[in-house]
Amino acid sequence: MFKPLDVNDKNENTTLPSTEAERVKCLIIGSGPAGYTAAIYAARANLEPVMYEGLQPGGQLTTTTEVENYPGYPEGVTGPVMMEDFKKQAERFGTDVRWGMATKAELTGDVHKVWIDGKKLLETEALIIATGATAKYLGLDDEKKYAGGGVSACATCDGFFYRGKDVAVVGGGDTACEEALYLSGLAKKVYMIVRRDVFRASKVMAERVEKTKNIEILWKHQTKGLLGDKGVVEGATLVKNMGEENEEEVKIKIDGFFLAIGHKPNSDIFKNFLETDNIGYINAIPGSSKTNVPGVFACGDVMDSYYRQAVTAAGSGCKAAMDAERYLSEKHS
Ligand code: FAD
Ligand code: NAP
Repeated sequence: MFKPLDVNDKNENTTLPSTEAERVKCLIIGSGPAGYTAAIYAARANLEPVMYEGLQPGGQLTTTTEVENYPGYPEGVTGPVMMEDFKKQAERFGTDVRWGMATKAELTGDVHKVWIDGKKLLETEALIIATGATAKYLGLDDEKKYAGGGVSACATCDGFFYRGKDVAVVGGGDTACEEALYLSGLAKKVYMIVRRDVFRASKVMAERVEKTKNIEILWKHQTKGLLGDKGVVEGATLVKNMGEENEEEVKIKIDGFFLAIGHKPNSDIFKNFLETDNIGYINAIPGSSKTNVPGVFACGDVMDSYYRQAVTAAGSGCKAAMDAERYLSEKHS
């Protein structure tokens, strides 16, 4: 959960001769809500999808407890159980779900090539990329210690649990401002922990935050650690003016600690072939899952820097499978 999937680690030049390749109709990389929804639709359209799960089978939701905003679960559901349901549904229609990590890709020509674990070569005319994005963390041991006990990287997902409580948001960008504003409607008090004395966020967002009564901005503060018994956050130790003469330690009482210091889309191995934004999110033709390379489709958090929700990822997975099916049928008609 805390280490971004670093596909470069294994991105060696281990090209096998094409004769040893396995050819599949539709290849799906990634097993989160986007990948599994693409698999359900692709399998039902007779595309006989093969899916590689990656290092985090089930995706980001397997790192959380309650999911309360996914339609169809009126009582809520835990992330791991929900993703097991996705998997069962995809397998029921014949998806071939395999363990393995895509470590290299060649997206040129008619047939796309993807290497798994630096060894096995898969070839396909329809590639669906559903590799998600990873939230950045500060790298503190306490983030792991209190995972599931008050540390979160998603206010929309977890804010509801902090109604009437005190929370902190780390970061000074647009995401941090958005998260703080969202939380200010639920929590009693929101601290923003900003490491510089200015926001990186746009002026309009910064002004909105500054005008919100229950948000207190802690300029030039950095987080040293979290406090609390039994793995539940009760406070944070911060350092004000770090490295300066007037450096001082500050403690705040909080129940929730929200990270908003950016995300890293897991697109490294595809970036040489696909158009991305400056952070690495894959650009799709608006309203579709189509990338700049015919036969390559992207869905979920790897192409969506804005919504980053399970239900939007699932919706875009559906689009990717439908786009792939239409692409193949037009190509072979
Ligand atoms: P992911 O879920 O990130 O899945 C990506 C998949 O790609 C993984 O299976 C990974 O193993 C695989 N992968 C990556 N690289 C490779 C590779 N090179 N080769 C093979 N496979 C690869 N959203 C909600 O709607 N409600 C919530 O309550 C909620 N709670 C959350 C709680 C937490 C702690 C977090 C972190 C997120 C939460 N979210 C929630 C957001 C939600 O999890 C994501 O929006 C959603 O999972 C995105 O789905 P995805 O399929 O695009 O990607
Ligand atoms: P971002 O713009 O990169 O901002 C990240 C913030 O986190 C910065 O304030 C940065 O501080 C801080 N930070 C990074 N590492 C840190 C660390 N280790 N400790 C403490 N603070 C740290 O990321 P983002 O806010 O996620 O936005 C990403 C992109 O999406 C941006 O282009 C943004 O404009 C866009 N976006 C737009 C909207 C909107 O328009 N409504 C909403 C969300 C996102 P420094 O400033 O000191 O580097």
